[in-house]
Amino acid sequence: MFTYESKVWLLNSVITLSSPYHYMQLPREVVVGKGTITCVNEVVQRLGLVGSALIIAGRKSNEVAGKQVRDLLENTGIDVNTLFVERATFKEILTVENKIKAWKPCVLLGVGGGTKIDAAKLSSARQNIPFLSVPTTLSHDGIASPLASVKGLDKPYSIMSQAPLGIVADIDVIAKAPWSSVISGCGDVIAKFTAVKDWQLAHSEKNEYYGEYSASLALMSTKLVIENAKLICDGNDEGLRVLLEALISCGVAMSIAGSSRPCSGSEHLFSHSLDILHSSSAMHGEQCGVGSILAAYLHKANWKRIRNTLRSIGAPVTAGELGVKDEDLIKALEMAPAIRPERYTILHKLNLRREDCEKVARATGVIE
Ligand SMILES: [Zn+2]
Repeated sequence: MFTYESKVWLLNSVITLSSPYHYMQLPREVVVGKGTITCVNEVVQRLGLVGSALIIAGRKSNEVAGKQVRDLLENTGIDVNTLFVERATFKEILTVENKIKAWKPCVLLGVGGGTKIDAAKLSSARQNIPFLSVPTTLSHDGIASPLASVKGLDKPYSIMSQAPLGIVADIDVIAKAPWSSVISGCGDVIAKFTAVKDWQLAHSEKNEYYGEYSASLALMSTKLVIENAKLICDGNDEGLRVLLEALISCGVAMSIAGSSRPCSGSEHLFSHSLDILHSSSAMHGEQCGVGSILAAYLHKANWKRIRNTLRSIGAPVTAGELGVKDEDLIKALEMAPAIRPERYTILHKLNLRREDCEKVARATGVIE
């Protein structure tokens, strides 16, 4: 059971964004390509992170990359410990923090998919030590971003933590992940199209800060994935690299914006609604992709291009393909603006009734 205090604890860990200056934190070393896992030593040495290291991994990601990272670091005389984390919940982040206090590593390495990297990101930020991101999947844009998604409370929280000091992304490691994670990553990148539209709307109607550069960076990632959709097929390393670089750019866009604004709008609120309703077993980016079709329609933008690109890479474009009942999809769209009332989007502007949500879902073919 999570108390009010635990929620306050989490929210207080956010780097304040209401300060008079604009704070940007960017990764310093980024190594991307085939076989780059062996560069982890060089990166650690160049950053001067010698002494001891703590690896945060899952059982699977430890087999795929964690063990190798540990061996490589130990061979250069670094003391290494590994802590297994299954979810990025409040409880597990506290467990990682206690381990940091006891073991006193000079660097934390998040080896795995979203949850492992999120757990490493937030716990290292709160304990004031650097962290390195070693992704083993491309399922979402947390690889390079300064934000961590924390689960296990009344709703998911995206918390400003810290950007990774370094990223070591090995295409050979990533290629071993299930193909569905690549599809999810594509959906998360394509969704930036509507995230930026929502941000522009909030700027013009609510005078919210809008960063042209970070918005352009996020849109460039979307464009890159849409234009190279044909390359993104199983067994094509070039396609994986396009997606990886697009996801890293999205993370950097968030660092420059100082928030998740360029990368998360109404389509993400829709995805969070589905999570809260527990009505979908689809991945984050798959849900965001469908959310982006709906949001693009509401923005009177080219929603068909979003849908066709998602379809061409084999991503879900209907409620049935997401594994969601039609009524739950409509409900998720209806309740989405209440997830973050302060994040103004097209859904807040239009304040759709249930019948309107159904009409939008039917008009876009998301439900039949
Ligand atoms: Zn996302």
